[in-house]
Amino acid sequence: MDHFLYRNGQLHAEDVNLATIADSVGTPFYCYSAATLTRHYTLFREALDPLPNLICYAVKSNSNLAVLKLLGDLGAGMDVVSIGEYLRARAAGVPGARIVFSGVGKTRDEMRAALEGGIRQFNVESDPEMEALSQVAESMGVRAPITLRVNPDVDARTHEKISTGRKEDKFGVPISRAREIYARAARLPGLKVIGVDMHIGSQLTDLAPFESAYLKMADLVRALRQDGHVIERLDLGGGLGIPYTRANDAPPLPVDYGAMVKRVLGDLDCEIEIEPGRLISGNAGVLVTEVIYRKQAEEREFLIVDAAMNDLVRPAMYGAHHDIEPLIEPPAGAPMAPVDIVGPICESGDTFAKQRALPFVAAGERIAFRSAGAYGAVMSSEYNSRPLVPEVLVSGDHFAVIRPRPSYEQMLGRDSIPDWL
Ligand SMILES: *Cc1c(COP(=O)(O)O)cnc(C)c1O
Repeated sequence: MDHFLYRNGQLHAEDVNLATIADSVGTPFYCYSAATLTRHYTLFREALDPLPNLICYAVKSNSNLAVLKLLGDLGAGMDVVSIGEYLRARAAGVPGARIVFSGVGKTRDEMRAALEGGIRQFNVESDPEMEALSQVAESMGVRAPITLRVNPDVDARTHEKISTGRKEDKFGVPISRAREIYARAARLPGLKVIGVDMHIGSQLTDLAPFESAYLKMADLVRALRQDGHVIERLDLGGGLGIPYTRANDAPPLPVDYGAMVKRVLGDLDCEIEIEPGRLISGNAGVLVTEVIYRKQAEEREFLIVDAAMNDLVRPAMYGAHHDIEPLIEPPAGAPMAPVDIVGPICESGDTFAKQRALPFVAAGERIAFRSAGAYGAVMSSEYNSRPLVPEVLVSGDHFAVIRPRPSYEQMLGRDSIPDWL
């Protein structure tokens, strides 16, 4: 459920008419709903209660400071994959004790900065990373709290580019070698083993791969405890999928996921951490764009819009589907016709949807791409020298620009021409 609905024939974000925001900030722009973000976070909290738990929002899915502040104030922890994300979480007021640091390529500088600033745990992904972290921590006279990310070798059966838990993927250490690597970790002077971590992929629409991974994790926890390790935390990663179409797909809800977690892992006496990104932010955002032209080609009709693949890359990168809604509600029974919705960039990949059935939308009218709150603005670029689009947060009947559109002057001002040219 989300808070982007038609009211009086106009698409609203909560109580704010999206056309009002478009008039104020121009198009394209991202708009997020505070109520939806809050609701999704709360659903996870309720789903995991009464197990001790911390929901570590995956910052990479939408890292705007206002979004982080909203979730942090609700009590969320944060899952970061770079020191830049760490600094964002801290700037949003999240204490280090609620931040976990994931990622296969943490540098020594990043490790040092996180240890200095305070960190809940490092999710370590390889032997060499383990050695490096121990050295950094030792040089600072501290012990770094760690989990090892184990790769359970299950196929998340999701998109190739976001499947991460198979043997051939670059993430984590193989579960078959986990006991041996934990034994080495326990001997390293700069580390303190506190738990186990995994993350098998993103946009999972079925609980079965999670369950088979968690069953393997439960066995591993028992074995590690027998080996003498103290395992207090289980980080289950993120990855629960969201509905990208209103019509028919219905991925499991947080409540189903929580019930499965409790059934499979509830008796291990561990604090549960999860790292949802998409399920919290995905359906909490839309990208609003204006139709520049309708173009009739020989075989098909195009809607050329003022947003492009640099603003929302998911369709080009993953073949992702985003539902599209005109800001003005089409009359009931309005005829639908197939159109291609494309951006202005000179690449055929700059296509948001092909042969999508839409009611007639004239040039100058606006449409919204739904489910654009996760992996939208964060993956955008200024390709074709198109300034980053602004981000807006709505709460109830008010809205605020939480990242303004840079001026052309600002965009150009970031480059410099050496004085020898
Ligand atoms: C990407 C990622 C997440 C978040 O995945 P979602 O599908 O957005 O929930 C969580 N943890 C790790 C380690 C990740 O790489």
